[in-house]
Amino acid sequence: MVILIHPPVAKPCEPPAGIAKLCGALNHHGIRYGVLDANLEGLLSLLNASPVPSDTWASRAFRHLSKHLASLKGWDAYQQEDRYRRAVKDLNRILKMTARSSRVRLGLANYEHEELFPTRSTDLLRATENPETNPFSPYFEKRLVELLKSQQPSAIGFSLNYLSQALCTFAMIGFLRRECPGVKLVLGGGLVTSWMRRPHWKNPFEGLVDHLVAGPGEAPLLSLMGVMQSGNNHYSPNYDSLPVRDYFAPGPILPYSSSSGCYWNRCSFCPERAEENPYIAIPAEKVIVDLLRLVDKQKPVLIHLLDNAISPSLMKAIAEHPPGVPWYGFARTTRHLTDPDFCLALRRSGCGMLKLGLESGDQTVLDSLQKGVHLEEASSALKNLKKAGIATYVYLLFGTPPEGLIEARRTLEFVVKHHDCIGFLNLAIFNMPIYGPQTRQMETNSFYEGDLSLYTSFDHPKAWSRQLVRQFLDKEFKRHPAIASILRRDPPTFTSNHAPFFVMKEQ
Ligand code: SF4
Repeated sequence: MVILIHPPVAKPCEPPAGIAKLCGALNHHGIRYGVLDANLEGLLSLLNASPVPSDTWASRAFRHLSKHLASLKGWDAYQQEDRYRRAVKDLNRILKMTARSSRVRLGLANYEHEELFPTRSTDLLRATENPETNPFSPYFEKRLVELLKSQQPSAIGFSLNYLSQALCTFAMIGFLRRECPGVKLVLGGGLVTSWMRRPHWKNPFEGLVDHLVAGPGEAPLLSLMGVMQSGNNHYSPNYDSLPVRDYFAPGPILPYSSSSGCYWNRCSFCPERAEENPYIAIPAEKVIVDLLRLVDKQKPVLIHLLDNAISPSLMKAIAEHPPGVPWYGFARTTRHLTDPDFCLALRRSGCGMLKLGLESGDQTVLDSLQKGVHLEEASSALKNLKKAGIATYVYLLFGTPPEGLIEARRTLEFVVKHHDCIGFLNLAIFNMPIYGPQTRQMETNSFYEGDLSLYTSFDHPKAWSRQLVRQFLDKEFKRHPAIASILRRDPPTFTSNHAPFFVMKEQ
């Protein structure tokens, strides 16, 4: 018997896809398992605890708690933007005030300790020594003891994907080590994979965690449970043990990943490429069968395709065999999207939104980053998608090595020119992966935030420092009226995860 845990804090809007995949594999081999979404349960338990009475905002927010939760779990909030914003702000306020005494800045998607950093292994080890100081400890101590008694697991696995989950994961590990030293503890997930793919990786958690897993966890978990598998088996995800109807969304969201790695795999700044994660795709016909079966079973209101980039061949397959439910995900701005009929076919198949990593509006920057995007194609794709009724969530990356102020201003011009075709914008400042092709060509400093940091500081070749980039964004880019009105649409905290619901209401 194994228990799989989704630790706090991550956006509580959809079930954890990685855990559903592990459930699919365990289910297939008839191995008993249990699942704990400690993120959703933990956040709800803190929200329902009385707030500090001295704060009038938190007290008022607490009085409206059930109304706010109901509005985020119905369609109301997505039809009245003010209501949505107020609900999210109030929930964040309650969490902030509740965790203040633990010296943690807590929110629905945020966990920052005043002193402990998730990028330092010594700080993670400190979190294991004092689990009771974690704001979630009253919840998880009780819940884990109950589970240990009722399920008597031989192993407990944590799926750690985001930095905001790291300190809570290690607090829970510390508690379990103390409570049940005999149970095997397994730690995997996207963040752990990135740590283990760092050059010169040395495990700082020996003696604490029994197994660290890099990459897909199905085979290592099965082998731990005594099942040896040969080859790369595909197991359909299984969501039966997850509370799919309890998340902060107007109905179940079905996350589904049809591939790992990226079929393009060439962008010079990309962590996927730096980590040398191979591209493994499930054949399109299997994806269609999986989606139809899962839709029939879970009755989702939205499918979230998690691929780093949905391949054009999968898009074609979905257009030919629509899943019957709206869907969205990341796509590359390829020439396929310059075909208006292709975009219309996607829309007919239920595509409500595409996330597009445009990164820059300057062709020399795009070429230097090996993005494989041509601005004329991007322009035509944005117009076609708009005409077809598919919203776009455009991702921009500022401060990359080939970019300076002149190039950043070209990005501004491109966005302004296409403002009426862009639904939402994500603005990011470039982080140099600690390893990868660009890092080797730059003057870098070996130590940035901690021994587990995935990024390094570097001397920008055009002296376009993070500080200057931030100034440009705040004083120029975000202030342009056409851009400001796009940015105002972004759903706070949940961003792209909730954005499709705001455009679906219009469809
Ligand atoms: S398309 Fe995205 S995931 Fe693929 S290599 Fe480029 S940045 Fe990485």
